[in-house]
This record gives sequence, C-alpha cells and structure tokens, in this order.
Amino acid sequence: MKCKKVTRLLPAYLDAEADEGRKSEIERHLAGCAACRQELESLKADLELCASVEVPELSPYLATRTMAEVRSPERRRVLAGIVVRRALAGIVVRRALAGAAAAVLVAAGVWVGSFLGGEIQGSENGSSWYSVEGEPSLEDLYGLALGENGDSGEGR
Ligand SMILES: [Zn+2]
Repeated sequence: MKCKKVTRLLPAYLDAEADEGRKSEIERHLAGCAACRQELESLKADLELCASVEVPELSPYLATRTMAEVRSPERRRVLAGIVVRRALAGIVVRRALAGAAAAVLVAAGVWVGSFLGGEIQGSENGSSWYSVEGEPSLEDLYGLALGENGDSGEGR
C-alpha cells in the first residue's frame, strides 16, 4: 500500500471504520513508514482538539434580545443611515451605467449614421436626449438623508 492511499484511509482507520483486512494493511505500512506514523499522530491531535472545543449553548432569549436591540431608536437611526447610504450608492452606480449605455448608443448611432450618409445628427445642439428628467439631484437626496431643508451649506 502506498503512502498516498494510507493517508487517505487514516481517518477511517482512526474511526475504526476500516475493515480488518485494511486495518492490518495500514498497520503494516505504519510499522515501516515514519512519515505516515507522523501523519497519524497529527490527525489524532486534530481530532482531540476538535473534541475539546465546547460549543456554547444558545440562549432561548437570544432572538428576542437581538430583535429588541435592532428595534431600539438608536439602532434604528444607524440602520436608516446604512439604508440611505446604500440607496445613494445604488443611484451613483445606476447613473454611471446609464452614462456608459448612452455613450455606447451614441457611438452606435454615429457609426450607423456614417453608413446612412450622415443623416443622423449628433447632439451638437446640446440637448441630452438620454438624461432622466425630474430625477432629484444627489444634493437633494443628501439633504433629505441629513434631515436638512434645502440649504445644504454648499452655496449653490
Ligand atoms: Zn507511508
């Protein structure tokens, strides 16, 4: 039996799951192989360590206490701040994606336009047809998040 196979069978050997034939084969190999004996010892040490770790018992009131903690006014403010920040980050990402998509559309339009003899005009007149109308600005959203009324103190 080769070292690789012995190493693979060692956990079963330790658990006394290996049948007698296998067991004697492994023992014969172990008698003549220091490397596999060492492997067996470290495996035993690992198993003892696992057995010695105590799993703490969960209090039946843990869920109740956790929910009370989450519902406390202070925690709510913190959680609300996280939600607002995540929403703002989402808007920034969506705007960036919309900008990239618009750039691709413009590029495609220019490319198609070059085949149609330049009939499709670019946006030289300055109107950005892809902009989202009526969307609140980031400054407005920050003002809402901070509970300020209009004046964000940035001198707009
Ligand atoms: Zn070996």
